[in-house]
Amino acid sequence: MIETRADCSRCHALCCVVPPFDAVQGFAEDKPAHQACRHLQADFRCSLHEDLPGHGYPGCAAYDCLGAGPQLLRRLPGPPWSAQADPRALFDAFLLQRRVHAQYALVDLALQRLPDDAEGVALKARLVQAAEAGASAIEVGLLEAASRRWLRSLSSRWAAPPSEA
Ligand code: SF4
Repeated sequence: MIETRADCSRCHALCCVVPPFDAVQGFAEDKPAHQACRHLQADFRCSLHEDLPGHGYPGCAAYDCLGAGPQLLRRLPGPPWSAQADPRALFDAFLLQRRVHAQYALVDLALQRLPDDAEGVALKARLVQAAEAGASAIEVGLLEAASRRWLRSLSSRWAAPPSEA
């Protein structure tokens, strides 16, 4: 099963530490990758969460891990990143997990229009497998390329909406 909902109660705020913040992308300040946001509390909750845009963090409000955080921590249970001597492997795995979930969301959406498309169904199964078992950077890159190829091929197959008489 692949999780697609960001359930922060089952996560360790991976999105608040792993990616960099860039002031030009909707963050009040720059933050390097792998450094916890200064507003992150010890309980992995954000002290500004109730009004992120009002505090200059619309980028955080818009961010959606698409369930990558909880799915990864279900697959790799263990101490939170803050208790690990070297959490870089976990951080890298989060970024890969997020990329898999992003492709899954697109493929799943397209399959709602073409539920019997064999290539799409197979692609979705490969993405679920990658989300559940993990995938290397090369494998994720190949999955992204396959998703893009398949999604591009759909444009000629979408049924035109019925014209109004
Ligand atoms: S990574 Fe996802 S689940 Fe975890 S804190 Fe961030 S948004 Fe919530």
